[in-house]
Amino acid sequence: MPKDQRGVIRSRSEPALNPNGLRDKSLAPSTSLAANPDDTDTFYDQAESADTSCKDSDVRCYGDEDASWISWFCNQKGNEFFCEVDDDYILDDFNRSGLRNHVPFYDYALDLMLDIESSNDGLTDEEQNNLIESATEMLYGLIHARYIATNKGLSAMLEKYRNYDFGRCPRVNCNKQRCLPVGESDIPRLSTVKIYCPKCEDIYSPQSRHQEEIDGAYFGTTFPHLFFLTYGHLKPQKAIQNNVPRIYGFKVRNEQ
Ligand SMILES: [Zn+2]
Repeated sequence: MPKDQRGVIRSRSEPALNPNGLRDKSLAPSTSLAANPDDTDTFYDQAESADTSCKDSDVRCYGDEDASWISWFCNQKGNEFFCEVDDDYILDDFNRSGLRNHVPFYDYALDLMLDIESSNDGLTDEEQNNLIESATEMLYGLIHARYIATNKGLSAMLEKYRNYDFGRCPRVNCNKQRCLPVGESDIPRLSTVKIYCPKCEDIYSPQSRHQEEIDGAYFGTTFPHLFFLTYGHLKPQKAIQNNVPRIYGFKVRNEQ
């Protein structure tokens, strides 16, 4: 397993979560914000001024070996739901409390995530490196679930929400309402991520097969509800229009 120029053992040719997920420029999260008449809030400017490092040059984000592990991970096919967590947040021990018990190869995973080269010297076994890579994804996911409940994390997810990065509600009467990711459990490995529609207040499977494999605990059960508590002006009116079953134009009698 070759080391990169920082000496960190990597397997970047391998997908993060999915067997077919190679770097794909077409999946670059766009930083241009979708125009929407509903979005006249003060947070628009805040989101617009967020990180736009990928805006001018895809090459910097995808072809450059200097891209951080976090940037690389978030740009993998299928990982569109993840925002980039600030290094400062990860470096704070308090934000990682309790995670050591859940994640194997914790120290190696943390170093890889933060592009620190020292502690995995001597590990050359490819199988072990693959285990560290997947432990790093898990550690990142669990930190991510905490980060998106902070002001900075919510703001980062707001930008992605405006970009339709989380998909739209498949229900016809929701008129393609934008959705947010949600977990059905805060405990890892119990269920995969779903998308939550704030209009019908129901959850659905993500449309992408790659996204369907992501652990729901990397987003948590709280996130979408905290999001709309924070950005209440973005919460749409609840859907009231339901499909009425009819046979040759006549309503079907509902016999209980
Ligand atoms: Zn809906």
